[in-house]
Amino acid sequence: MNIHEYQAKAILKGFGVPVLPGVAITEASQAAAAAAQLEGPIYVVKSQIHAGGRGKGKFKEAEAGSAGGVRLARSTEEVVAFAGQMLGRTLVTIQTGPVGKQVNRLYIEAGSAIEKEFYLSMLVDRTNGRIAFVASTEGGMEIEEVAHKTPEKIVTFSVDPATGIMPHHGRAVAKALNLTGDQAKQAGQLVSSLYAAFVAKDMTMLEINPLILSKDGQLRCLDAKMSFDSNALFKHPDVAALRDESEEDPKEIEASKYDLSYVALDGNIGCMVNGAGLAMATMDIIKLYGAEPANFLDVGGGATKERVAAAFKIITADENVKGILVNIFGGIMKCDVIAEGVIAAVKEVGLEVPLVVRLEGTNVDLGKDIVAKSGLDVIAADDLDDAAQKIVAAVKKA
Ligand code: GDP
Ligand code: MN
Repeated sequence: MNIHEYQAKAILKGFGVPVLPGVAITEASQAAAAAAQLEGPIYVVKSQIHAGGRGKGKFKEAEAGSAGGVRLARSTEEVVAFAGQMLGRTLVTIQTGPVGKQVNRLYIEAGSAIEKEFYLSMLVDRTNGRIAFVASTEGGMEIEEVAHKTPEKIVTFSVDPATGIMPHHGRAVAKALNLTGDQAKQAGQLVSSLYAAFVAKDMTMLEINPLILSKDGQLRCLDAKMSFDSNALFKHPDVAALRDESEEDPKEIEASKYDLSYVALDGNIGCMVNGAGLAMATMDIIKLYGAEPANFLDVGGGATKERVAAAFKIITADENVKGILVNIFGGIMKCDVIAEGVIAAVKEVGLEVPLVVRLEGTNVDLGKDIVAKSGLDVIAADDLDDAAQKIVAAVKKA
């Protein structure tokens, strides 16, 4: 789960991480009061969307001008003017895709005079099961670009969970960022506070880009991108409460209500499969026959008729879907349960696109029988190969 920058900064502040004072607003009429709470005379007006690259992003609407999603304001009047131009508009960044994201909230923050910009992030390194730090002197740029062009400017190391964070980790970051003296000391404190926050809140990723050295010699986190381990959210109701569903794909939210593993994709063949491995194989074979899957969907092993019906409805609600492939290998899952779920859903929402069903395994004859007697226009398939070819052909013909 991801959260907004202003929420991430509030969490970091609680762990003693240096962030600047700021106020989040949802209406332009709140802008003047927000600025009045800050010292001034420089402010930063920041679009709050779950995507990076806001500074270099562009608004779709002409009234917002050519300025990006993060703007430096030199007076309260400018804060008010920028807020009016940014709220409610659609910001397109390198991470939002061409559709962009609507800006529903702004963070008005005290401005900083920047001496240097750095990059610092933390993530769970799955290869060694540790929390890793990534530091670079090339702040403010996308780290992927730095990694591509000047990989020698990126320093990474991981922390042994048996010892936890140690002073030498702080020194490693200070060295990577060419910081000495008091600033190295600040880096050491920062590293241990960030580590404490990361572990305490079960984060999976924390990116500070840029971390800055201000003109008056202070390290400050100017941006914060934070992701949490969804499987640990039950331990953190305070974090779970920060979820902003308007930032998520409505189909994925609906799927999560039914414990379905669903990921929306760009293709036009909807897939309903049981088992993550089979679901991936199904996506692969659709591609092999020249089409693209519209989603990943694993209905799970013990799905009920209701869950199968919910899954089917989520697939058909996607207007990009031009055909559906149901591919079930009945192990724990019984083919008749799938058949009943699909038919129940079709009776409710109708079926306007070709549907190929491939059933195999437990209660397969019962399942096929239910489909056959339903009177639905279903294309039956014998195996995965056959099923993929049939749905791709049906979609191309339609
Ligand atoms: P992102 O583009 O979504 O990563 O948003 P950031 O929060 O990183 O802001 C983009 C850029 O705006 C930063 O890299 C800084 O260069 C600049 N910026 C942000 N806050 C300030 C500030 O207080 N003062 C100055 N001078 N620049 C800032
Ligand atoms: Mn940034």
